[in-house]
Amino acid sequence: MKRIPLFTDKPNPQLDNYVTVLSEGRYFKKFSHKLLKNIIRRGTLVKLKAEEHLIYQGDDSPPEMYVLLKGSLAVLANSKFILRLELPGDIAGELSVLNPSPRSAEVVAETDTEIIAFTQDVFAVDEQSETVPVFYLMFTYILAEKLRITTAQSLVRKNNRVISVDNTRIALIDENTTDRLIIRGILRSEWPEAKITDFDNVAAFIENSLQHDFDLFIIDPNFTSQQKLDEKQIKSIFNAMQLKNSPIIVTSKLCQDVLQRQKWMRMGANDLLTKPFSIFDFKHSVTKSKIMYHQQRELDRIEQDADTDRLTGLANRRRLDQFLEALQTVYPDNKKPFSLVISDVDNFKHYNDTHGHQMGDVVLAGVAGIFAKTVRKGDLAARFGGEEFVMILPDCQKTNAVQVAEKLRKAIENEEFPYQDQQPTGNLTVTLGVATFPQDADNIDTLLKKADECLYIGKESGRNITIAVE
Ligand code: GH3
Ligand code: MG
Ligand code: MG
Repeated sequence: MKRIPLFTDKPNPQLDNYVTVLSEGRYFKKFSHKLLKNIIRRGTLVKLKAEEHLIYQGDDSPPEMYVLLKGSLAVLANSKFILRLELPGDIAGELSVLNPSPRSAEVVAETDTEIIAFTQDVFAVDEQSETVPVFYLMFTYILAEKLRITTAQSLVRKNNRVISVDNTRIALIDENTTDRLIIRGILRSEWPEAKITDFDNVAAFIENSLQHDFDLFIIDPNFTSQQKLDEKQIKSIFNAMQLKNSPIIVTSKLCQDVLQRQKWMRMGANDLLTKPFSIFDFKHSVTKSKIMYHQQRELDRIEQDADTDRLTGLANRRRLDQFLEALQTVYPDNKKPFSLVISDVDNFKHYNDTHGHQMGDVVLAGVAGIFAKTVRKGDLAARFGGEEFVMILPDCQKTNAVQVAEKLRKAIENEEFPYQDQQPTGNLTVTLGVATFPQDADNIDTLLKKADECLYIGKESGRNITIAVE
């Protein structure tokens, strides 16, 4: 590790480059170049070679906040991968600055990496002073912003995961037939209610994993006979698995190698077992995963209750608002446009007045059920209020969203609701409005307003129709 103080009185063109990197990062956009330059001058440039440690767990070196300039850093706690820093301007270590104590995580450079380190005193507040230094204000701003972004990212990730209450699924990826048989045998005794799907090749797994939500992955990445996997391919398999937030057990002959173990840990493995494994160790590992699984389920259930509309079982307004906010927050990262479909039941007052509020409720639950099963996994169907529903379609352009809305409209049109023939048009239908972020609006309120305006136009033009923002 090389450390070079950046303090200088003389002009240093390098500092200007760093200012540019930082100001393009997500935490420093709001600050002037002059301020950024002053800040950088108080830091130390740190150069790390691939695989070199920046921090060891338990280390009690003085706390520092790190800003990534280039390369990539992995953060691990108790050898478990926590997060990766790879976007220039991203930060780490801010919590240790806030609360100095022996380091609770280790940080390793994955490639040749450069960062700027700031010691705690840069952000310190003088307790006797009546003013707060601008460094301190910037630090608290970064903390708040980081919290907002990570919360949003985890919300969006979580929405991809559908909670399947009744069946647990385990994916077993291993080219060795005998190993698969042994593992199956152990799983059958340790986790009898789980459904095991095994794969002897990676392509089949990837295709299948897109359709199913697995609750546990058991993988030997050491493919030798059919296809040898390079590190990049293995990394993308692990990334796909992590999207599901389920534990990953790696069992492989290559686990004997410490460096290899560290690499897999960083990629997200929760447990590592060397082959040939002892049956006892393997059972222990499966039991740990099973406990994690049940705890997570319990948390999911509690959270879901608070976020669910009682009548329809769809997401409630709180969840809808949270999700929209989260999508808007992660947009600068993923640049994925998303669409919003708002729907209102046609002549619903008439239905209530004719058949009673209770019968009306039955229809609302029916409409909600159709919406819920028509949208994709990862979309969110929510009750917006009364007889209005909103569907959020992440990573979805206008044309696709219009197709989805039309699918919803036709599904309701074709469904036989009780007494629908007594409606003014002889059918129970919905009208829909569609708007897309950021094309139609640069904030959530405007997006909702635009979709609502479309809905209104649809009502004016005779109902049972989809209208999208031009
Ligand atoms: P339009 O086609 O213009 O939408 O006509 P509409 O009669 O549906 O008009 P509007 O959307 O303004 O009416 C909403 C009605 O939905 C009024 C209210 O009685 C009913 N409603 C709202 N929430 C509920 C609910 O939770 N249950 C029941 N049964 N009815 C509801
Ligand atoms: Mg209405
Ligand atoms: Mg209505």
